[in-house]
Amino acid sequence: MIKTERVLHLKSCRGRKVRVVREHYLRERVPCYSALCQAGCDHREGKVLPADLTHYVVPDVGVVVDYLEVLEVRELQGVVFTQTACQALQHSKGRRQYNRLRNLLKDPRHDCVLFANEFQEYSYCPREKGERQEKWQTRCVYSAAVWYYNHLAGVKDVVMLTEDQEAVAQYGSLNSGVYVISVRDFLQNFWPELHAAHELYSSVSLALQEKESEAPERQYAEHLPAELLEAGIKSGRYIQGTLNVSKHRALSEASITAEGLSSKNSDLSWSVLVSGAKNRNRAVHGDLVAVELLPKSEWRGKDTALAEGRGEEPSGEGDRKPMATGRVVGILQRNWRDYVVTFPPREGPQPQTRKSQRILAVPWDHRIPKIRVSTQQADALQDHRVVVRMDSWESSSLYPNGHSVRVLGRAGELETEVQTVLVENCIHVPPFSEAQLREMPVNSPERPWAVDPVQAAQRRDLRASHLVFSIDPPGCEDVDDTLSVQRLNGGATLELGVHIADVTHFVSEGSLTDLEARTRATTYYLADRRYDMLPAVLSGDLCSLLGGVDRYAMSVMWELDAQTLAVESVWYGRTVVRSSYKLHYELAQALLDGQRAEVPELAGLGAEEQGGRLARLADALETLTRVARHLRAQRDRGGALELEGVEVRAQLDEERNITALVPRQPLEVHETVAECMIYANHWVARKIQEAFPHQALLRRHPPPRQEFFSQLVDTAAARGFTVDTSTNKALADSLDLAVDPRDPLVNRLLRIMATTAMSQAVYFSTGLQAQDQFYHYGLALDRYTHFTSPIRRYADIVVHRLLAAAIAVDRGSEPGGAVASNKDLEETAHHINNKNQAAQQAQKLSTELFQCLYFKERDPQSDQRCVADAVIYSIRDNGVLAFVPEYGVKGPVYMKNREGQVVAVGEDGRCEWQSGAVRRHPDHITTSSSCGSATFRLFDHITVRISVRSTLCHADALSLEVVSNGPHRRTAAAAEPQPARSQGRSSSQLVREVVRLAEEASQQAQEKAARRPKLSREEREFSQTKTPNLYSLLEEVRELALLDPEAASRLCATTA
Ligand SMILES: [Zn+2]
Repeated sequence: MIKTERVLHLKSCRGRKVRVVREHYLRERVPCYSALCQAGCDHREGKVLPADLTHYVVPDVGVVVDYLEVLEVRELQGVVFTQTACQALQHSKGRRQYNRLRNLLKDPRHDCVLFANEFQEYSYCPREKGERQEKWQTRCVYSAAVWYYNHLAGVKDVVMLTEDQEAVAQYGSLNSGVYVISVRDFLQNFWPELHAAHELYSSVSLALQEKESEAPERQYAEHLPAELLEAGIKSGRYIQGTLNVSKHRALSEASITAEGLSSKNSDLSWSVLVSGAKNRNRAVHGDLVAVELLPKSEWRGKDTALAEGRGEEPSGEGDRKPMATGRVVGILQRNWRDYVVTFPPREGPQPQTRKSQRILAVPWDHRIPKIRVSTQQADALQDHRVVVRMDSWESSSLYPNGHSVRVLGRAGELETEVQTVLVENCIHVPPFSEAQLREMPVNSPERPWAVDPVQAAQRRDLRASHLVFSIDPPGCEDVDDTLSVQRLNGGATLELGVHIADVTHFVSEGSLTDLEARTRATTYYLADRRYDMLPAVLSGDLCSLLGGVDRYAMSVMWELDAQTLAVESVWYGRTVVRSSYKLHYELAQALLDGQRAEVPELAGLGAEEQGGRLARLADALETLTRVARHLRAQRDRGGALELEGVEVRAQLDEERNITALVPRQPLEVHETVAECMIYANHWVARKIQEAFPHQALLRRHPPPRQEFFSQLVDTAAARGFTVDTSTNKALADSLDLAVDPRDPLVNRLLRIMATTAMSQAVYFSTGLQAQDQFYHYGLALDRYTHFTSPIRRYADIVVHRLLAAAIAVDRGSEPGGAVASNKDLEETAHHINNKNQAAQQAQKLSTELFQCLYFKERDPQSDQRCVADAVIYSIRDNGVLAFVPEYGVKGPVYMKNREGQVVAVGEDGRCEWQSGAVRRHPDHITTSSSCGSATFRLFDHITVRISVRSTLCHADALSLEVVSNGPHRRTAAAAEPQPARSQGRSSSQLVREVVRLAEEASQQAQEKAARRPKLSREEREFSQTKTPNLYSLLEEVRELALLDPEAASRLCATTA
């Protein structure tokens, strides 16, 4: 080892120049991480570049700093990042960008490695006197590239990338074996077909050129340096928080949710208003900022009127009293993501130039400011949706600068809009890669999959001994869970079993499949499709506990006292099962009710045998029902003081309310299956929490904030009901009583409001919370987790691994690597929580997309389907909020329009616009005009016309206009017999119809232009199922249609 000195010239935060001398050690052996290594480098840690690449690429500092995202393109393999470039990136671009590079280096899906060139004796070059830093860095990288070439004995081509033309000339002429070329030449010569990388490169380089030519006129105040911000936050002068821009008044109104408010500011509420663009000072929605409070005389209030053109405000009723107001003084962390923008149509003839133009593109998300994008394809991109990234926002620029990443398609087309929803929610679901699919087990007619005898010997074999069956929605392909129940000890003991697909047997920790599943965190259900978390061979086949085939399972089995149903013992472990029956809910219920039912598995058997088996199955179902009723009652009783399962109740009560509309009984068997799953999740939570008190993944549901209930309480009071929200049980009981016999919708709306007021259930690591915080409010359980759906939730995969480790510990072995630290687990939990939220949001947006596409096809003036019954559920300053049960649509209905006209009601109840005035009261709103006055009360039924408000740059939105102040009565011709589950039915019909129309339109377009068929269809085959199982169509869409989407998504999130 050689010791030298290294002189560094650094800049301090205040801008002072500092000279630092560091001892620097050089070694002869620094690993190269290449599979071609002949020198025996130590590669035990880290990735290794495969031997079969055509070349290795060594980017210099400038390329890594400016073009990292081009190097991230997955096809570009064999990249060697030098230590010199990494350090320069960290220094010039900050932590966020540096972490991005570190993640890239860690990700096994990318073939790239880090070479510690400055520690390598023969590749390190000391800086020469007077040598400019950039020149020296380039020399270091070149020297590293040459070392690489020689180290691998010249068997692999090495390409050094640099944007410095002098360096190309200087080093390119040396005969060292290393090619030195620019990024553009590299892409053209080595990757001529990789258009995505070419386009990304041009757009990034355009953005860089534009940045240089910026005019220096100041538009905004400068941001304070990081150390001043930090000190100011510590002393309480500044408040730190995440900027949240108002959806409805994006230009003027934003607020920050303060984090860790200092006690000196205890008189502040938890949010600070930031009003106007100057005060927002270039902060973008989602950024972590520091805010300074303005003098009290400049404080303002939030606007509570319905904003024209947008949906409703969240909670926060009627007060326009001034609140703490501040201005942004600095940005602690940018949280920029990929944004979808639209290139607006351009007026007038455009000059036909090939030169680049700067276009102000409009983000799809209202909360994001316009982004200035330089492009050479301004004409081609008109009316298109494009993914862009923001690069910078200087104080001299009114708008941020960005560059385009890829084109999604023409605005308004179904596929473009669905992709937009995904990008906007940071959902990235590429087809599963070849390498990932190679990890998968094979199950084909030629090579059928079979139970491995070694595995069979290690597992408890239930195939012959237990009657195992599944109950799911009809058509379910991915069967996560199965059940068994039988009598032991001559009937004194009952054995209940829950058997879950053993996904972790096939998905080992750290494999490519595991990483992809972790990244996705969940299966994504959109209105017309789904994106699976796991490849189809697992989710639809080998992990799916289908009938009549051997499968691996992870089981929980309880021995219960047959009389009291008290738990005598619990067994956890891996098993082999063979499900005898794949039942669907209706069939199971029919068997329970003793009705004649065709069980497909029994077809073709003799009458006697059939009868015997049927009796055994029915007996098992009955026993199961009895156990589930008991478990349910136990949880309900959980003591009058303890809380009980409101969410599950709410969901089931929703079912009961449908009954009120449509005569149809909810199936008890739904509840039975759900109860068994809740029980298994609860017992697994106990097991892993006891085994790993500080590092188990559980799920908690915090009690709701009382102030969120105010709308519910006030609204109920308007109908004379008292809703008691003091405890969960009181809430459940008082909601049960708030029933108007003449109008079942009243109770339903109140329940929707109650659900909306609930908090989200979240995953967490037990090391981070005190045990009294583990409580699941909704289910009234002290500990809860997710164990029963590992095919479509990554949390369950983590929990399966923890359970396996806990079982290993019981047997006296080591838990193995499966147990992550508290910190890592909390990070995982945070990631999964975020992805779940994104999944819910995407589902909601895609449902709204389909609703809009459905109505877009119809003329609201003549089409009867555009007129519907609506119920008023909230009163606002200039209108009301109404719910349209038929379509599951919620939205504002204006009583006063922009021209100042108000809704006037004629003799027959018909409404028209007249000049006049509106007046808001707590439970009603009154309009007065020359026609007299009209009143709209909470829970009044009105008739609305539904139309689509189209805006090119944003999502379409439905608009509701009152046409009559009475309930909607269908004319005899239009009245159709209401099918059971009318809402759900109409909603999935709606999806089908929209898909059909879109397919027709795209077919016509294809025939017309004779274009090549889109690649995406084939691509999609690998990553998703085009025809969703009924789970998504019936269950999910039905819930969304029944409830308002927000409430529904909360329900999905909070229930078991
Ligand atoms: Zn080596």
